[in-house]
Amino acid sequence: MRKHLSTECIHAGEDRIKPHDSITTPIIQSSTFVFRNSEDIRRYTKEKHFRYEYGRYGNPTQRAAEKKLAKLEGAEAAVLFASGMSAIINTLLAVLKAGDHMIITDDAYGKTLTFVKDWLPKWGIEFTIVRMSDYDAIENALKPNTRIFFSESPTNPYLNIMDFSRLREIRKKHPEMHVISDSTLATPYNQRPLELGADIVIHSATKYLAGHNDILAGVVLGEERLVREIVDFQKIMGGVIDPHCAYLLIRGLKTFGIRMERLNRSGEIVAEWLESQPKIRRCYYPALESHPHHDVAKREMDGFGAVVTFELDGDLEDANKFLDNLNLCYIGPSLGGCETLITHPATVTYYGCTREERYELGILDNLFRLSVGLEDPEDIIADLDQALKSLG
Ligand code: PLP
Repeated sequence: MRKHLSTECIHAGEDRIKPHDSITTPIIQSSTFVFRNSEDIRRYTKEKHFRYEYGRYGNPTQRAAEKKLAKLEGAEAAVLFASGMSAIINTLLAVLKAGDHMIITDDAYGKTLTFVKDWLPKWGIEFTIVRMSDYDAIENALKPNTRIFFSESPTNPYLNIMDFSRLREIRKKHPEMHVISDSTLATPYNQRPLELGADIVIHSATKYLAGHNDILAGVVLGEERLVREIVDFQKIMGGVIDPHCAYLLIRGLKTFGIRMERLNRSGEIVAEWLESQPKIRRCYYPALESHPHHDVAKREMDGFGAVVTFELDGDLEDANKFLDNLNLCYIGPSLGGCETLITHPATVTYYGCTREERYELGILDNLFRLSVGLEDPEDIIADLDQALKSLG
């Protein structure tokens, strides 16, 4: 019997009967797994009898978390990494070889773009950066050696949404190309890109999947055949998740369904409130009709998430004053945890850029990204309201 998502969050991937009849999956904090005798070695090496051998090749707590995530994403297989970036880099390096070409959208996570731009060419791999949602540009960028199309959806900070139906059409003309979707902001609660034509899905599990701002983790999901290649590479590269982190991820996932239900609702409430405020020049949230990709989001997503981006009606000084007056919302990078977090990209993520460089990328002095948390939305709004009022 197919179960509903919240039930899978709690039970999927974990053995029903666990060591010592514990109700929770134990943390197997072990770097190595010993053979009982030579027969044990023989069965493992000659008969390919499944067992654990060494921590870099897998761990039972990690395995339970992977199976749970695969179930939620509707994937045949999953592999966990020590961080989202580790998952992304391991995947790109496992799939690409010298002479290959990849396409990536211009609003991908900054460090992903840096890796593609500054590091892949060192290994003889070409790339083209296309504007997100410019499907003609994607078609024009295709080359006989294009092996990967990589994008996020929704993207950061403007929450642009990939139209997978357009991507499927392009893909038909280039079947050897892998479509990789970083679905960190969508989460499997709101979208399952594998069902929409992606070959590989990646998440920074640091965010909504773990959900408590207390671990770093990344996951790659897809067909067994593709994931196996990535696992083979991970066995050499490392970047494995620590068993204790894998346990915290399992723990976080137990409440993933209920957290996302609440976060989708709160995201919408806060976005609608922000859009109605005279001191807010513009609010970006895919559920709002004013969002440029509202129709695509409505068609392809089951919910709109809890990241809301907005522009204050003011300058850099006003932006700093607004931040300084917040009492409940924490100021900092990241998203997807219990605590509401606000980021001011101009002074945090892009502090190394000149104003001109930032404006070229759409990072305005008055732009904020809010990761709505699990507090009561009325309290989040009250905090934003009093900070806005402090601007006079
Ligand atoms: N992908 C997206 C969309 C992100 O926002 C981030 C981090 O913020 C990453 C990947 C990298 O994940 P991690 O910080 O877990 O390495």
